[in-house]
Amino acid sequence: MTRTVYLNGEYLPETEAKVSIFDRGFLMADGVYEVTSVLGGKLIDFEGHAVRLARSLGELEMANPVSKDELLEIHRELVAKNEIVDGLVYLQITRGAPGDRDFVFPDPETTAPTIVLFTQNKPGLDKDPKAAKGTKIVTVPDIRWHRRDIKTVQLLYPSMAKMMAKKAGCDDAWLVEDGFVTEGSSNNAYIVKGGKIITRALSNDILHGITRAAVLRFAKEAQMEVVERNFTVEEAKEADEAFTTSASAFVMPVVEIDGVALGDGAPGAVSKRLREIYLDESLKTAI
Ligand code: PMP
Repeated sequence: MTRTVYLNGEYLPETEAKVSIFDRGFLMADGVYEVTSVLGGKLIDFEGHAVRLARSLGELEMANPVSKDELLEIHRELVAKNEIVDGLVYLQITRGAPGDRDFVFPDPETTAPTIVLFTQNKPGLDKDPKAAKGTKIVTVPDIRWHRRDIKTVQLLYPSMAKMMAKKAGCDDAWLVEDGFVTEGSSNNAYIVKGGKIITRALSNDILHGITRAAVLRFAKEAQMEVVERNFTVEEAKEADEAFTTSASAFVMPVVEIDGVALGDGAPGAVSKRLREIYLDESLKTAI
């Protein structure tokens, strides 16, 4: 089946959706994105992603070409047209194509933003065998810019970090700045020690994960203790357990950091419980 994608107001076969070579997303990574998961044909935490998208656009003084209602409609239409049961909806908005290359932002009156959405089919997204086995992490320096709270499409370093992880025989990388873990290459990072869930507090140093917000809320509702503070790599290696959160992998247990096994080397009880709670609760409110 040819995938149907959305581009600037039109639903098109993926082979017919074309963007200008002058698009600032292509030339300057001048764009923002969101990834929303789909389980059982329904969108998980759409509202959170829509709110963060508006914030990212606002921080970059970029126009928002669609209302929240229109955005929901496009997401649902793409899920239906592509018969997605489990998968992802990717959305990207760039500052558009001014028709030439220039560092200065184009006038939004004459250059419209480019908006693209497409689906990715991932049957059994919530049943990834990695969740039962746990993932191995390598730590790498965090050399990204200092507005990591804006979800921009500048993903070269996170891509490189994933490649460093792959070369080290690991599943993913955690990024480290001044000795402290900031976050994962494409997820938020947590450790568990003495029953306490420890994760870095929100700031411009990390992306404000939509899954993070939901998981911390569910953890508190389940009377688990949450501490939002920095933690070091050494502390992580001595933790009882660790995990990551993201819209595409939900709660993912970590069993090894830089070759050091955590606890008994299997996914920990807190991580497993949080994954269960997260999936149960988010399915209840999926739309
Ligand atoms: N941090 C980074 C750097 C990310 O790329 C992502 C996922 N895009 C996250 C955290 C997790 O955010 P979310 O839960 O909204 O997917």
